[in-house]
Amino acid sequence: MHEPKISHLAAEDPALADLIESEAQRQHDKLRMIASENYVSSAVLEATGTVLTNKYSEGYAGKRYYEGQQLIDPIESLAVERAKAVFGAEHANVQPYSGSPANLAIYLAFLQPGDTVMSMSLAHGGHLTHGSPVSITGKWFRPVHYGVEPETGRVDMSKVRELALAERPKLIIAGGTAIPRTIDFPAFAEIAAEVGAILMADIAHIAGLIAGGAHPSPIGLADVVTTTTHKTLRGPRGAMIMAKAEHATVVDKAVFPGLQGGPHNHTTAGIAVALHEAAQPSFKGYAHQIVANASALAVALNERGFDLVSGGTDNHLILIDLTSKGIPGKPAAKALDAAGIELNFNGVPFDTRRPFDPSGIRLGTAALTTRGLTEAQMPQVAEWMDQTVTAAVKEDTAALDRIAGEVRDLLAAYPMPGYTA
Ligand SMILES: *Cc1c(COP(=O)(O)O)cnc(C)c1O
Repeated sequence: MHEPKISHLAAEDPALADLIESEAQRQHDKLRMIASENYVSSAVLEATGTVLTNKYSEGYAGKRYYEGQQLIDPIESLAVERAKAVFGAEHANVQPYSGSPANLAIYLAFLQPGDTVMSMSLAHGGHLTHGSPVSITGKWFRPVHYGVEPETGRVDMSKVRELALAERPKLIIAGGTAIPRTIDFPAFAEIAAEVGAILMADIAHIAGLIAGGAHPSPIGLADVVTTTTHKTLRGPRGAMIMAKAEHATVVDKAVFPGLQGGPHNHTTAGIAVALHEAAQPSFKGYAHQIVANASALAVALNERGFDLVSGGTDNHLILIDLTSKGIPGKPAAKALDAAGIELNFNGVPFDTRRPFDPSGIRLGTAALTTRGLTEAQMPQVAEWMDQTVTAAVKEDTAALDRIAGEVRDLLAAYPMPGYTA
């Protein structure tokens, strides 16, 4: 059953309530390894389901365009102050609706259409909003991309510097969505200073690791830091921008009124709760356990002949090239889902296949760490993945059903916030 209870919804709209109950069950029964996902706490769930959704609050605390902000102002200020404290930032804006609008706000704040932006290519682990041709960021600006080296699967910072010197970008973006290795923020900061570019760190994936001290922080090095709040940070779906004090006004104006209307106050409250949780000593344990689990899983996958991009991982994320296993990413991801192991198909650097039918899969250990799994279970997870890939090649659906049952049996011992049996 969903927790908190959804009894009013069940009475009013049983069809929808049934779907939500089934989704809670599904999230409980599956090994969720989509690298961008997690389980929020019951406290975060409660905050996002409150009457705060009723309120309009265009503007910022102390300077709003609607009346009745006596309680919204302190709620948003709590979220802002907690963000600044957790990350050590000079300025924070908690209003972006999600990671993509947060990134677009940075373009709006610092660039004119046609300006050059340097970022990790999507094919090597960047994000759509880092200048992909299908994104507004690629259509309205001029992206140039760095990537990883074919031999190492890692970024060579001397090549990033060469590209920056040749292209003179106005904005440099560090970070991405499929980067299994530590990002060298000090080197990016040096390059940005040398070419006079604004440096933006997009820490959407690793924000929780940074908050918990399990990945170096770009705060103090980057001019602006964007992040989603719902990945390793384990808050509601939303985003934040942190900035050096000198950029506070231009960033705030870009978010509102530049790009958005009223902030989603129920989400702001959920972000405030998640940041309160991130400030507790136990969050450090969670962040380091995510990395320990990913490392243990990488070892166990390597032992079973999986080909990991860059050979392993420093963070929560593992990118696997399945070519050596004789199956592309998409059918493998579908078979794994049928076997109770949820992840996504993903391109790998220098992929010879198409983006919608690529060679790889991507996974992360944040959600299973929240469930309470440790290094002790990672060999079993790798073994299930190996058995599933073999079964998929042989089209052995009975094996997938058996593995899904075993996954469910294991997870029955690990409670999920948001669900009671
Ligand atoms: C997830 C992600 C985003 C976008 O977040 P949405 O909330 O999906 O819009 C932006 N940048 C990076 C690096 C991401 O991983």
